[in-house]
Amino acid sequence: MADASYRYKIGEIEVTVLTDGFRMVPVDDKYLRNASTSDLSGALAEAGLPTDKMKNTYSPIVLATGGKRVLFATGNGEAASKQSNGERGTLNANLAAAGIDHNSIDVVVISHFHADHVNGLLMADNGRAFPEAEILVPEVEWKFWMDDGEMARASKGRMTELFANNRRVFDALSRKVTPYAWDQEIVKGVTAVGTPGHSIGHTSFVVASGGKQVFVQSDVCNNFAVFAPHPDWQGFFDQDPPAAAATRRRVYDMVVAEKLPVQAYHFPFPALSRIEKQGSGYRVVPMAH
Ligand SMILES: [Zn+2]
Repeated sequence: MADASYRYKIGEIEVTVLTDGFRMVPVDDKYLRNASTSDLSGALAEAGLPTDKMKNTYSPIVLATGGKRVLFATGNGEAASKQSNGERGTLNANLAAAGIDHNSIDVVVISHFHADHVNGLLMADNGRAFPEAEILVPEVEWKFWMDDGEMARASKGRMTELFANNRRVFDALSRKVTPYAWDQEIVKGVTAVGTPGHSIGHTSFVVASGGKQVFVQSDVCNNFAVFAPHPDWQGFFDQDPPAAAATRRRVYDMVVAEKLPVQAYHFPFPALSRIEKQGSGYRVVPMAH
């Protein structure tokens, strides 16, 4: 793959955007809860995209800040790389290609506990992918997924599978993590911002240095062509769909008003974008930097 990394600066902080590959997602009636398949394919056509399948991409970032290397999101993991013949789970290879040894990652910041964000904490043999790193997790997310009562009450299917996956991943790490609170600086220049809905403790980040700021949105908007122009549409992957939609509008109104660039996990690489108001929704404009 060309362009496996992309670098820019926010004041003193260097950002390296990497890719963990992609997955093709079917366009069907399962993807949206409150809009039809033809609504979905219409939105894709409007953006000039294929209407039979969607490409879901993954873009973790590494920040060099305060003398530390800080990785945000770990991708799908080495095991997924083998299973998908290198379609996804390519973060480690792309870190190496960008000259970043995975042993040199000092801190890993997790935004929420979905498989495409946490599975890369482990190698295929369940060893630690970032052996020297402190692992920071949102305390709301940590409490929820590690609560046996919540697990017992979870609805069968996606939620029970997520509980099982999260226990598998974090048990392999002996649950050695550092929970962080919202509205706190978690590493130099990075403040955690609660953006719940996609998951109960879903977290975004404001990165600020030298008078410059970027909003690292995580999964506030999972597909730029679908949820930006139609922010009230609800994806099957949202734990609390109305809250996810409300968060999307609140965050996008804020980044539009404050002219904050957005670094997104699931936008096309390198996923640094400007958000503009458009009609009753928003438009995502990729930024050449
Ligand atoms: Zn995601």
